[in-house]
Parts: sequence; C-alpha cells; structure tokens
Amino acid sequence: MARIVMKFGGTSMAGTERIRRVANIVRKQAAGGNQVAVVVSAMAGETDRLINFCREANALYDPAEYDVVVASGEQVTAGLLALTLQSIGCPARSWLGWQLPLRTIESHASARVESIDGEGLIAAMERGEIAVIPGFQGVSEHNRITTMGRGGSDTSAVAVAAAVGADRCDIYTDVDGVYTTDPRIVAKARKLRAVTYEEMLELASVGAKVLQTRSVGLAMKENVRVQVLSSFVDDDAASADDYPGTMIVSEEEMNALVEKGEMERQHVTGIAHDKNEAKIILTRVPDRPGSVAHIFDPLAKASINVDMIIQNVGRDKGETDVTFTVPQSDLARAQALLEDRRGEIGFNRIITDSKIAKISVVGVGMKSHAGVAATMFRSLADRGINIQAITTSEIKVSVMIDEDETELAVRVLHTAYGLDAPDEAA
Ligand code: ADP
Ligand code: ASP
Ligand code: MG
Repeated sequence: MARIVMKFGGTSMAGTERIRRVANIVRKQAAGGNQVAVVVSAMAGETDRLINFCREANALYDPAEYDVVVASGEQVTAGLLALTLQSIGCPARSWLGWQLPLRTIESHASARVESIDGEGLIAAMERGEIAVIPGFQGVSEHNRITTMGRGGSDTSAVAVAAAVGADRCDIYTDVDGVYTTDPRIVAKARKLRAVTYEEMLELASVGAKVLQTRSVGLAMKENVRVQVLSSFVDDDAASADDYPGTMIVSEEEMNALVEKGEMERQHVTGIAHDKNEAKIILTRVPDRPGSVAHIFDPLAKASINVDMIIQNVGRDKGETDVTFTVPQSDLARAQALLEDRRGEIGFNRIITDSKIAKISVVGVGMKSHAGVAATMFRSLADRGINIQAITTSEIKVSVMIDEDETELAVRVLHTAYGLDAPDEAA
C-alpha cells in the first residue's frame, strides 16, 4: 500500500470526457488499497479566459480580486472530478484551498505556499476516500484567496505530497515525460528516463514549462519523489508504479543509474527556450561608479526580475550603453520607472524590443567538461543566427537571439549536442 498524490494538468481536465478518463486512472491507482489525493488544474484555456475577463473589467485590476476570479477555474474541475469519481463508485470529496487550509504568503497572483494542514486529507484518505484538491489556489493569513502563478498546480501537488508524506507525486500531463527539449518543437526530442532535481530546476527556470520552477525547488527541498507522465494512455498502458514517465532524481540516484548503464551521461541534458522576456537598452549612460546601481535599484524595489545584463565598453566621452532583459509582462512598468529616473540615471534614450528569445542549454555534465559554450556559439554562427547577449551558470549557458529564429536555434543545438533520437528503423 502506498500514498500517492496525482496531479492532472489543464489538457487532461478539458471537458467531461477527459475528466472521465482521469477518473479511471485515479480509480486504478486507488485499487489495491493505495491512498490517493488528486490535485487538478482548470480546463485548458480557462485560466486565460478568466484573466481576460479581469482585464476587460479593469485594466489596472486589483490582484486580490484577480485571484478570486482566476482561482475559480480549479474549483470547477475539482468538483467535477469528485462527482465523476462518485459516479464510478469511488468515494471522493473536494477540498478547496481555504478548507484544507493551504496557507500562502499574501503576494497575490504569485503566492508561495507557507503551510498545509494535511490532517484532514490524511484522515479522509485513511477512510478510503479520494481527496480532490484544486491546484493553483490557497488562502492568505487575512483569509483572502491567493493563486500561485501560472503553472502553479504543479507546486500545489508537490506541496500536498510533502504535507501528507506521500510516497510519490505523479504529474500527469499531455506528454509522456520530460524530453531533451520541447517535443512539440523538435520531433527528434528524446524522452529522459530520469533527470536530476538540479537540472530540472534549471530547465524549468529557463522556459521548459512542463513543471513550474517552484514545484521543482520544493520537491528538492522536501525530498518529494516526482514522476512526470502522460494521462493520454490506453487502458492497457503500464501502471504509474512501473515508472513509465520521467523520474526527477537526486544526483546520487542518477549516478547509480549511469553506473548500471540505464542512463547515459551527456554534457548537455536538455535545451529550453523562453519567448517571454523583453530587452531594454539605455543609451549613453554616464560611465562612472554608481550608474548601474541607479538603473537596477528601482527595478529591484518594484520586484522586477532582471535576467541578462550587458554593459558595453565605454565609448569616448565617458558614456556607455547598458542592455538587459526583464519579463515581457513587466516591460511597461520597467520603462515607466526608468523614464521617471532619467535625470538621476542620466541616459539618453530607452530602446525596447519584445521580439527576442532566450535559448538555454543545461546539463550537470558541463561542470566537468569544457567546450559546451563554444559548441553553442559555433553551431548558431554556422546557421547565421546572431547572439545578442550571453549568460552562464555552472550548469547552463543561455543566449539571447531574435525571436523568429527560436525554433531553428533549438533544432540546431539539439543536433549539435547529439541529442537527436535515432531515425526510426524502417
Ligand atoms: P499541464 O497543463 O499538464 O500542466 P503544460 O502545458 O503546463 O501542461 O506542460 C506540458 C507541456 O510542456 C508539453 O505539452 C510541452 O509542449 C511543454 N514542454 C516544454 N519543454 C518540455 C520538455 N523538455 N519536456 C516535455 N515537455 C516540455
Ligand atoms: N490553471 C493555472 C494556469 O494555467 C494553474 C495550472 O494549470 O497549473 O496557470
Ligand atoms: Mg503546467
């Protein structure tokens, strides 16, 4: 007997037919006496639809009321799944965020889990009831509804798994695991049997949206065993207990898999892209101590994340251009903040560009192998793709390029690092 948390994403929950398939997968997992809690997303497209309503109602919407609106999508699917489970003879009930309660910090639209009371859930599961929990939502210390940022149901699932001491957290989605890159872009992407927490954290943070970044960080911290797998499977497909998907594992577990010959160690594990950043160039900034602090202090105070930064070589007259990226959704705010401080910073012009993409290659193999970045630059140059900025970390190299070249760049790099799946035998 095991205790399992299962999470189903938006595509898996899109409509009553699909919810019925999900209910069948849940019933199978519960059969044999397993204790099961299920975390669900809103139906695919629903969160976008609700966000649009907020924008139409009030362009400068209050994030607390935004959360009230967008959290409703998950309430609907949680109730529907409980009803569907009941209809096939499985005792089930829904547990909304405030009913658990799942406490988060007050930060609306991007709340973080603070604590979950797992007692009610554990008691229900021990009675043989399936607990259905809407993902994405929680409640703040002031009893207001909060949501946890796009893709937040993954984090809800991992947090619930930690709170109830689950043996495993299975993230069911519309692909059958974590791939070397987005399989919707590169047909030759390969499914990974396992990936380390560290690499998955980095991949998620640079755009591989298969798991929300925070969910991976939380799983790593709380030691939650996470599997990514598909909910779109036939009745006779392998059980989740046989690990048909991708396991997120510790470095030690990965080393053991490599030693047993079950995984190959590559210098690069995966490639991700992100089209959600925008570039800002400030021209003719005075080239003296303190200039850069004047630019980035106000952005930091406004919680605007700056990612890539380049300060060009100072030209004559002690002036320099400073280029950096911010999330596209913060571009207007960042621009307004900088305009307000034009005198203090002393720049000449602000130039912005949203048509950029960040392409990143990730792999723990980089720690001990030189030349990964050089291969990236050479491969992109050979295809005439211009690099506008570069950043690196211990296990990642990212470049900024023109957005129109995203797909080409990802494919070229996937081939360059030997990640392409072999051609299917005819
Ligand atoms: P869900 O609604 O189930 O949460 P998401 O759309 O959030 O699903 O995440 C699944 C999607 O992530 C896949 O359909 C795929 O296009 C995308 N994706 C991006 N990078 C990867 C990757 N490296 N491996 C698998 N899927 C990826
Ligand atoms: N429905 C929310 C979103 O689309 C949360 C989730 O699906 O994980 O971002
Ligand atoms: Mg998701």
